[in-house]
Amino acid sequence: MRILLQFPEGLKQEALKHAKKLEAEGNEVVISATPTFGACDLAIDEAKNIGAEKIVHFGHAEFHHVDFNVEYVPYDIDADLGILDRAVEPLRPYGKIGLVTTIQHMHQLDKVAGFFRANGKEVIIGKPYGFAKQGGQILGCDAGSAASTDRQVDAFVYFGGGLFHPLGALLMTSKPFLVIEPFQGTVEFIDKYREIYRKRSRGKILASVDAKNFGILATTKNGQNNMPMAKILKAKVEGAGLNAAILVSNTFDFDSINNMLEFDAFVNTACPRISIDDTDRLRKPLLSANELNEVLKIKAEMARAKA
Ligand code: SF4
Repeated sequence: MRILLQFPEGLKQEALKHAKKLEAEGNEVVISATPTFGACDLAIDEAKNIGAEKIVHFGHAEFHHVDFNVEYVPYDIDADLGILDRAVEPLRPYGKIGLVTTIQHMHQLDKVAGFFRANGKEVIIGKPYGFAKQGGQILGCDAGSAASTDRQVDAFVYFGGGLFHPLGALLMTSKPFLVIEPFQGTVEFIDKYREIYRKRSRGKILASVDAKNFGILATTKNGQNNMPMAKILKAKVEGAGLNAAILVSNTFDFDSINNMLEFDAFVNTACPRISIDDTDRLRKPLLSANELNEVLKIKAEMARAKA
């Protein structure tokens, strides 16, 4: 069978090893060298173009159903739990904690929960909704396991690598948020980012108030494609007497978008994290759909005040 292998960036270093194993089993194997951002980003077009009958996608769980043969290969990471001792003191004021992690550490969630229960905490693991499939699991764009327990808990605890995932959950919750990062060896509250991101969002909105030409970004990635939303937003902008065009790409190249000098602001309909995390990569404001709505509301209020 001809198979296309797909790896997120952190696992590409192991691509050859997996390719050789599958070849030894009699398969013809090709490795995708395209950047891969999640299971929302299945290389189905690539697979079809090379006549592959199957994609083996490493490191993520199923995100959405697709009409193609895809095998998901999870990638569990055994992080050192010794760091948990250092979370006891910062969590002392909080009796009920909501625990979340990423797919790579789901197999460690019970042990982490057991540690905190043994230290007198009531541990609440939220049910998933949206794209996440397991209780306590969060994605960069789906923090349902945290948001669903916001009213029940005194604080949240994220166990896992990096800040990308907990930042998404932080912005959808209101309680103190402790990140235990076993690879960097850090244990810290990240609550300050709520205000930083709120101010950044306000800054983008105000910087777009005089915009006349809006570029609506729509991706062809199968799990992120939202052309209906792009069309709705284009119609909204035009309905306000302004110009809009839909800009399509698979992976947006921000240098290339920066060359589109006619546009005064851009609106994201792809991965929701683009308009949160990548705004500094564009010279013009990069808005979410909600932020665009706010811009149009302010423009309408200004027009009424002038009339
Ligand atoms: S955060 Fe973005 S890249 Fe990650 S799973 Fe969600 S849509 Fe995909």
